[in-house]
Amino acid sequence: MDLPENYMQDRITDVGPPKYDDFWPEVIKKNYGQWKSHRILEPGVLVHVSETGDKVYTVRVAGTRIMSVLHIEDICKIADEYCGGFVRFTTRNNIEFMVDDKAKLEPLKKALEAKGNMPRGGTGAGITNIVHTQGWIHCHTPAIDASGIVKAVMDELFDYFTSMKLPAHLRISLACCLNMCGAVHCSDISILGIHRKPPAVEHSNLNNVCEIPTTIASCPTAAIRPYKDEAGNKSVQVNVERCMFCGNCYTMCPAMPLADGEGDGIALWVGGKVSNAKSAPKFSKLMVPFLPNEPPRWPSTVNTIKHVVEVYARDARPFERIGEWAERIGWERFFEKTGIEFGHHHIDDYRLAMTTWRTTPQFKF
Ligand code: SF4
Ligand code: SF4
Repeated sequence: MDLPENYMQDRITDVGPPKYDDFWPEVIKKNYGQWKSHRILEPGVLVHVSETGDKVYTVRVAGTRIMSVLHIEDICKIADEYCGGFVRFTTRNNIEFMVDDKAKLEPLKKALEAKGNMPRGGTGAGITNIVHTQGWIHCHTPAIDASGIVKAVMDELFDYFTSMKLPAHLRISLACCLNMCGAVHCSDISILGIHRKPPAVEHSNLNNVCEIPTTIASCPTAAIRPYKDEAGNKSVQVNVERCMFCGNCYTMCPAMPLADGEGDGIALWVGGKVSNAKSAPKFSKLMVPFLPNEPPRWPSTVNTIKHVVEVYARDARPFERIGEWAERIGWERFFEKTGIEFGHHHIDDYRLAMTTWRTTPQFKF
């Protein structure tokens, strides 16, 4: 077949995402690199001031990670009517509407209030939206659900979203397995789904649906080796002693399912942060090694988180994040004040953990 002449001309293949500044409102474009300061006027309302004297007022409202099309349509209608067609989503899935004139602020706030499902908040010393992963709705390796737990937790803590009465910012995140698509390693409170049992192996199916060498290579601890069952099926075998229940093999091979009603559950972590303010960024530390998976409202998890938030709110000094508070009073006191049991699971036994251990006699009992 003859190819048409210049058939590749003007053909764009690897387009990638459109350039971000195509989506900026005019006032943001005009003041690029010239923003001087910003203030929070009230929970959920910010003002940014530019060197040029321009101001941008932002109204932040709660969003969700998984949204219905109808909800997105509502958001777009408000953006069209009040914000010149511009709207943005924050990294924690909040929605921000921006206007360049104070006179436009009140009508925007009223329109959002009238919707009833777009509460203002998520700024400053409060709890903003919980960032989370896919959970049962989408991913194949979750030990727990994501949006279900987030809804149950946030229903209890909602008052902290619309106010700024905590000592400092409090960031909560959830990842539904150790692969951790959520920011659980560096949030003030982290909810982490964990598996506690090795994958089952469906010998009769495995060779039909999986590539055995790739499956073996997928295991980070070299726990998988080739195997032939009694019926002569080519398959693999798991060395349970070496398995750390990461689920990598299941990603490669659907004949190695990992989910287990009893084995799967929640670990809670505490004290992480990304911010450089006051103290260096911190990794989260283990708080509760295991809580059962309790759909549809996960009461043990919700109550534990609520309790820790309340103790922190009472006890910490202004501007102290949870990790900073725990370090000031001592982690021994943290467990004492929160009443959370300290056990052998809290001691890091990773073979290279020595550098992270406290090696002074300065314990604070
Ligand atoms: Fe999937 Fe794990 Fe990511 Fe959850 S954290 S979405 S289970 S890979
Ligand atoms: Fe290896 Fe992880 Fe599969 Fe266990 S769960 S066998 S550690 S890949």
